[in-house]
Amino acid sequence: MTNKQHIIDRFVSYVKIDTQSDPNSNATPSTEKQWVLARKLAEELREIGMSDVELDENAYVMATLPATVAHKVPVIGFISHFDTSPDFSGTNVNPQIIEDYDGEDIVLDEEKNIILSPEYFEDLAQYKGQTIITTDGTTLLGADDKAGITEIMTAMQYLLDNPDIPHGKIRICFTPDEEIGRGAHKFDVEKFGAEWAYTMDGSQIGELEFENFHAAQAIVKVQGKSVHPGYAKDKMVNSMYIAQDFINSLPRLETPEHTKGRQGFFHLSSIKGDVEQTQLEYIIRDHDKDHFEARKEMMLDLKNEICAQYGSKCIEIELKDQYANMREKIEPVMHIVEIAEDAMEAVNIEPLIKPIRGGTDGAQLSYMGLPCPNIFAGGHNFHGKYEYIPVESMQKAAEVIVKIAELTSERYQ
Ligand SMILES: [Zn+2]
Repeated sequence: MTNKQHIIDRFVSYVKIDTQSDPNSNATPSTEKQWVLARKLAEELREIGMSDVELDENAYVMATLPATVAHKVPVIGFISHFDTSPDFSGTNVNPQIIEDYDGEDIVLDEEKNIILSPEYFEDLAQYKGQTIITTDGTTLLGADDKAGITEIMTAMQYLLDNPDIPHGKIRICFTPDEEIGRGAHKFDVEKFGAEWAYTMDGSQIGELEFENFHAAQAIVKVQGKSVHPGYAKDKMVNSMYIAQDFINSLPRLETPEHTKGRQGFFHLSSIKGDVEQTQLEYIIRDHDKDHFEARKEMMLDLKNEICAQYGSKCIEIELKDQYANMREKIEPVMHIVEIAEDAMEAVNIEPLIKPIRGGTDGAQLSYMGLPCPNIFAGGHNFHGKYEYIPVESMQKAAEVIVKIAELTSERYQ
């Protein structure tokens, strides 16, 4: 359906533009350089013939593909982000294209002995015979999420070139700053005007996600009493020992390194302390709302228990909810997941439905009134030098977009 070389050329033209976002900036977009790709994308959307192409003051790019059918079909949307992760350099990305991959090690950098090996990254083996795009070992690739952009752009062009394919009105949006958790922050849901949408931002082919964590942060401040150690008998209170009690009283096996699937956790991400004061930073994660609330309760109960022992003000906890599981917003509209599943099956992809152990922009958008499951974009090993993507997965993702458009129109006939 889609021309492989066009996809490669398009993808490479995007990843060569550095669009790394910056969590330390309060501006939107967080880095000036994201404008370069935002402008290019707006121009390209006009070139392929999209309507209402708009680049707003925060670098969100929106456009419309008008309906080809007369009957009433809900407006649907497709979304991806053009920034790349601050975790790894995105400067001078130099993609390597490996045709007809032989299933063996791929040497990214001979001199530094950086090797992408299917022995370590087992997923690679399933792409034998395909065209793989990798890095040169010095940067990330940016398939997260320029693959999503490539796929949406390719699908839109295909639908414009084939007006006989029945579909309703489609809206698309490319956002900045997803990697720093702000992709949804300045997303104008009302202007977008879709009944539901899909983020094209998942990993391997087939992924379909509509569940993510409930998330909170807990800052635990422990107050001690510093006294000269030589004269401290019955006077000193060492905040680090109280903090240690707190840490040891939480379930040791309910931590990221001991959990998977739908199991939640407490994650101690930082300790800073001395005798006088110790601060613990936790994140709390759970897919289940009741379990999530119970985890927060457990922390507060523990605080009370320890304070009863060491003094009423010895611990303070600041709890802050960060994001919520989109499942409760998706369940009432499960047909939007079913349409995506049917679309995958129609193009011979087995849907892999699993809960995300993290958050997505789609979760935030779902709570802003735009239900938004996440679909694979095809890349692997995001946010680092081993990132790669099979071109065939991008082709399939573009086909899934086209099929979703078609099936939605059919369903409302
Ligand atoms: Zn992403």
